[in-house]
Amino acid sequence: MSPFEIIVIPALSDNYVYIARDTESDTTVVVDPGEADPVLKALDNHGWSLTHILNTHHHGDHIGGNEKLIAKYNATLIGPASENDRIPQMDQTVVDGDLIDIGGHKGLVLETPGHTRGHISVWFAESDALFCGDTLFALGCGRVFEGTMEEMWTSLVKLRSLSPTARIYCGHEYTLSNAKFALSIDSENSKLQNRVKDFETMRSEGMPTIPSVLVDELETNPFLRADDPILATTMGMAGADPISVFSEIRRQKDNF
Ligand code: ZN
Ligand code: FE
Repeated sequence: MSPFEIIVIPALSDNYVYIARDTESDTTVVVDPGEADPVLKALDNHGWSLTHILNTHHHGDHIGGNEKLIAKYNATLIGPASENDRIPQMDQTVVDGDLIDIGGHKGLVLETPGHTRGHISVWFAESDALFCGDTLFALGCGRVFEGTMEEMWTSLVKLRSLSPTARIYCGHEYTLSNAKFALSIDSENSKLQNRVKDFETMRSEGMPTIPSVLVDELETNPFLRADDPILATTMGMAGADPISVFSEIRRQKDNF
């Protein structure tokens, strides 16, 4: 089976919606359609019809297009069991460890609470693709709205343990503002400096910075490095436990 063909669709002000397509099985899944119109347009352009919708969490900028897309295609809506009361029209609810099957492509469900209490990420190993909504961003992570700092850190550690080649398809283009913050607390990191330059070029050419690759995030994303003694020392928190360091990074970013 060949990997999914994945298309990046900018939506709303800074969201990304993803279409993953498998030609052999004529399967097309959209991930987190915050609005329907750009998705309808992309599907029409390619001559594809939608078979599945996958939601990572209940926020409007991730599910706002569901209703219209279901009305047109009768697509199967898959989402987190623990947000069943907050995402209307779900056909299939999933929990941690479930393997979903989309046209023969197996997606491993990882519960990644923190941003919302029922947030999930889905890992398609054969396509090297991680859909992680508002949990992990390029050089950043989601705001902790509903879960605890410990939950969010645990969620990020879970994602961090996936294949280093994992391509990270996240919910927003927040990369440059994340970069500014990352540099403010980790200014001597030359890998980070180089990535930021690349990202600035991409954005000045109107290109998405997504997908980001996990191996690059491991060395440059401060939120994945809360247990790295070097970063803790840089932050004046040598010896502190990872959850305290993570909480401090998140707190500083919230006020940045
Ligand atoms: Zn969200
Ligand atoms: Fe969002």
